Amino acid sequence: MRSERIFNFSAGPAVLPVPVLEQAQRELKALPGVGMSILEISHRSKAFEDVLARAEADIRQLANVPPTYRVLFLQGGASLQFAMVPMNLLTAEATADYIITGVWATKAAEEARKLGKVHIAATTKAEQFTRVPRPAEIVLTPGAAYVHMTSNNTIYGTEWKDLPRVGDIPLVNDTSSDMFSRPMDVSKHAVIYAGAQKNMGPAGVTVVIIREDLLARSAASLPAMLSYAVHAENGSMHNTPPVFAIYVLGLVTRWLIERGGLDETAKINERKAARLYAEIDNTGFYRGTAQKDSRSLMNVTFRLSSEALEKQFVNEAERAGLDGLKGHRSAGGIRASIYNAFPEEGVVALVDFMKDYERRLG
Ligand code: PMP
Repeated sequence: MRSERIFNFSAGPAVLPVPVLEQAQRELKALPGVGMSILEISHRSKAFEDVLARAEADIRQLANVPPTYRVLFLQGGASLQFAMVPMNLLTAEATADYIITGVWATKAAEEARKLGKVHIAATTKAEQFTRVPRPAEIVLTPGAAYVHMTSNNTIYGTEWKDLPRVGDIPLVNDTSSDMFSRPMDVSKHAVIYAGAQKNMGPAGVTVVIIREDLLARSAASLPAMLSYAVHAENGSMHNTPPVFAIYVLGLVTRWLIERGGLDETAKINERKAARLYAEIDNTGFYRGTAQKDSRSLMNVTFRLSSEALEKQFVNEAERAGLDGLKGHRSAGGIRASIYNAFPEEGVVALVDFMKDYERRLG
C-alpha cells in the first residue's frame, strides 16, 4: 500500500490542505484545552461555540462580508439550496430568473420550477455549455424575485470572470466549486451558497451567506429546517449542526488567511491554471473544451482525439500517482480539478506527464 500522498485531482470531495489534515489528526483525540474530541462534545458546549464563532469570523474576514449579511452553516449540500432558495425567496406572484450554464444550474432551475414560476434568463446549452453567457444575452424579468447563477461550472470547466449586471434584482450565486478561490464582492449578492467539499472542507456542511433583509421573505409556514430565518435566528444551531465538518472548515479558512487571504490565493490559482492551459494549447494534441474567455481556474477540462486515448491517459496517469482525472460522466474527456488546496507541484507533475504522453502517443 502507498503510504505517502498522491496528487488528487478529484472534483469533490476534494483535496484538503496537508497542514489542516495534520492538525485535525493531532487534535482528534483531545481538542487542546478541552480534553475531549470534537467528535464527542455537545454542540452547545463553549468549546464548539468557539469553533463556530471562529469559523464565521474567518469567513467574514476572508470574504470581507458586510455586517448586514448573515453567515449560516447548513446541511443537505448545495442541492438542498436548490430548493431552499425558491422556498424562501420566491413568492406566488413573482418569477425567478435562472441563468443556465450547466448541469447544476439546470438542476437548480428544475427544483425552483416545482415551487413557482421560473424564467430562463439565458442559457448556453446550444453551445454544450462551453462558455458562460455574454451580458447582452441575459434577459431578466422586471421585478424578478431573484436571479440565480452558478459562478463555476464544475463539469464543463467554465467560470464567470465578472458578475452579470442585474440591477436591483437580488443575485443568488451557487459558488460551490469556486468559493474562496479569488476575491469576491459579497455586497453585489443577495445570497451566496456553497457545499464545502470542494474548496472549503469536508462534505456535510453548506455555507450560506444571505443579506439580512431577505430573511423577512421566509414564510412562517415553512418547516423550520427549511427556513433561512429560523437558521439565522438560531445562529445555525436550530438543531445539531455538522460539528466535525464545521471544525475542519474552520481549519481551512484559517489556512487560507495565513497564506495571505483571497488575493494571494487567486494569484496561486491563476498560476496553476495558466500552466495547465499553456500545455493544453501547446500543440493541438490536447483540446481545451471551454471557450477561452470562460475558462475555469478550478476545473480544467480537455479532450484528446479519441476516447481510447483518453481512457489510456487516465489509466496511465493514475499509475503515475495522478488520481481523479476522468471527466464527469455527462461530459466525458479529462478534468483536472485544481482547487485551492491542490499543490502547485501536482500541476507541474501533470504537465510533465502530459508532455511525456504526447511524446509517446502523439
Ligand atoms: N453546484 C455545483 C456547482 C456543484 O459542483 C455541485 C456538486 N458537484 C453541486 C451544486 C451539488 O452539490 P451537493 O453535492 O453539495 O449537493
